[in-house]
Amino acid sequence: MFDWLIVGAGFAGSVLAERLARERDEHVLIIDRRPHIGGNAYDRHDAAGLLIHQYGPHIFHTNSEQIFDYLSAFTGWRHYEHRVLAQVDGQLVPIPINLDTINRLYGLELTPDELAQWFQARAEKVQDIQTSEDVVVSQVGRELYEKFFRGYTRKQWGVDPSELDKSVTARVPTRTNSDDRYFNDQYQYMPKHGYTRMFENMLDHPNIKIMLQTDFEEIRNEVAFRRLVFTGPVDEFFGYRFGKLPYRSLRFHHVTHEKEWHQPVAVVNYPMEQDYTRVTEYKHLTGQKHPLTSLTYEYPSDLGDPYYPVPRPENAQRYRLYEALAKSTTDVWFVGRLATYRYYNMDQVVGQALATFRRIDSSVLRQRRG
Ligand code: FAD
Ligand code: UDP
Repeated sequence: MFDWLIVGAGFAGSVLAERLARERDEHVLIIDRRPHIGGNAYDRHDAAGLLIHQYGPHIFHTNSEQIFDYLSAFTGWRHYEHRVLAQVDGQLVPIPINLDTINRLYGLELTPDELAQWFQARAEKVQDIQTSEDVVVSQVGRELYEKFFRGYTRKQWGVDPSELDKSVTARVPTRTNSDDRYFNDQYQYMPKHGYTRMFENMLDHPNIKIMLQTDFEEIRNEVAFRRLVFTGPVDEFFGYRFGKLPYRSLRFHHVTHEKEWHQPVAVVNYPMEQDYTRVTEYKHLTGQKHPLTSLTYEYPSDLGDPYYPVPRPENAQRYRLYEALAKSTTDVWFVGRLATYRYYNMDQVVGQALATFRRIDSSVLRQRRG
């Protein structure tokens, strides 16, 4: 008899397995339908010996000291600040849009103050900012929106930015200075020996058993357990009773080139051309030295593994039905990006899992006392 069955060995499941085993001495069985731990953050060495991310580039960034300290028990870090270029009008220019993006794209020599005015002159007045289009046109105007955001977003999500919640493009700021970092967070690092090694360290405990290539459906009636943590898609758990929640998928094309470098930064975005959205060159992320270089091209798709919840009002409404059902289901805890239908970064999932552990702890302790 296990105290816990945990479905999914990504960040959500692994953090809870680790906490319950190490802090509470509970016995945990963690399963995943994939042949590896780490969920979407899984990385591996390819045939050339280069460390690549199987499910696209994962860069760790957070403002939370607590989350950073927690993960630091399982990995050392390589300081890395992410920089992205976008291929626009035949040039590679910084995204987020900043002072250099505009000066280079338009052959100008604006100062930060002048750029603020330049944006103001082009920004559209939007009374009530609701959509991903509103966010961008109200900051930088329609021309830059069309160059940097409309095409990329249509490819990535399969819908127009005017049909997506504002939170999607609001992830990417606009700057009037020359800061060309993709993230502003205080902590920006890559795990020194990769994500998979970090997960191995988290799950390395005598109370934790791992079963891979195992679907929840296969074992739910075969294994005895007292409580369940579910980190897969919440609509799947409830047999799609309120209809399917849309998740956007990606097809990853991994290649190795016989040259040392392919592009000047880790990620180049293609907002205006190509079927893929972005190309990642891993050596920039990992610092690995190697005469060859490995890349990943991302092709968005509706088919395939669920990667992104799609932030639209009707999906949020449908999710709320599942959320109410989830809350009323006793002894099952729903955690993570798929189970709570939230466009969360890794640090947010870790934070959510740690908060869930604290809630479990107090409710289980209450039951024990009772
Ligand atoms: P997952 O990692 O999806 O883990 C869930 C696991 O559950 C999966 O392994 C799945 O196989 C398993 N599972 C589901 N259902 C079942 C079932 N029925 N039976 C058995 N197993 C099941 N975040 C960042 O912070 N920085 C980034 O740079 C970043 N880049 C990203 C790039 C891409 C392309 C994507 C898709 C995501 C990126 N993220 C990034 C987000 C990050 O991947 C997630 O926040 C995080 O991995 C979510 O962890 P999770 O445990 O909730 O879900
Ligand atoms: N986006 C865009 N152009 C870009 C970069 C981002 O239109 O060059 C939009 C797009 O809708 C994307 C969203 O902003 O899905 C969030 O970007 P982010 O890089 O955070 O996406 P993720 O890394 O989560 O795929």
